[in-house]
Amino acid sequence: MNKGILAVYPGSFDPPTNGHLDIVFRASCLFSKIIVAITENASKNHIFSLNKRIDLFQKITKNLKNVEVISFSGLLVNYLEKINSFILIRGLRALSDFEYEFQMALMNRKLNKKIETIFLMTDQAYTFISSNMIKEIAMLGGNIADFVPDCVEKELKKVCYCDLSKKIIQSSKY
Ligand code: ADP
Repeated sequence: MNKGILAVYPGSFDPPTNGHLDIVFRASCLFSKIIVAITENASKNHIFSLNKRIDLFQKITKNLKNVEVISFSGLLVNYLEKINSFILIRGLRALSDFEYEFQMALMNRKLNKKIETIFLMTDQAYTFISSNMIKEIAMLGGNIADFVPDCVEKELKKVCYCDLSKKIIQSSKY
């Protein structure tokens, strides 16, 4: 454990998956404190509100005493400077993640030389899990129980059920 080191795990987490949980659990064993920083990324079409994503991430990490979940807006490097943290945690799955993550790590370091991005390789059990894919499967009525924590599955089912009901009502109007 790196005593006294605060690390930040940023992301949109829409929704949090077992892959995210694995990364935050492993990071919490490496650093004294992890801040999960949830961003409201305007360019993404979120299924869950910022508050709901915070609530879900808090629920799934309630047993990890050195993990705090917050939201942030604006430039990540500014937030890091503000809380005096210079370690970013990111997860890496397949090669397809690499280019984007590499570019972002280099840009963050260009913006602030002190920042180091630490990549944790996904566990092979979670390599194919992405929030987007989980949303698609849920929307199409598939079983997502193996990919997300129970509370996330419950919330996704609620949203998808509402969505489906709206579509049925819409189509019955014509
Ligand atoms: P973004 O930050 O691009 O919105 P996410 O919120 O989905 O992406 O993910 C946050 C971080 O977690 C990213 O570094 C992403 O690569 C990583 N991640 C996402 N899914 C997994 C997974 N199944 N295993 C490991 N890392 C993951």
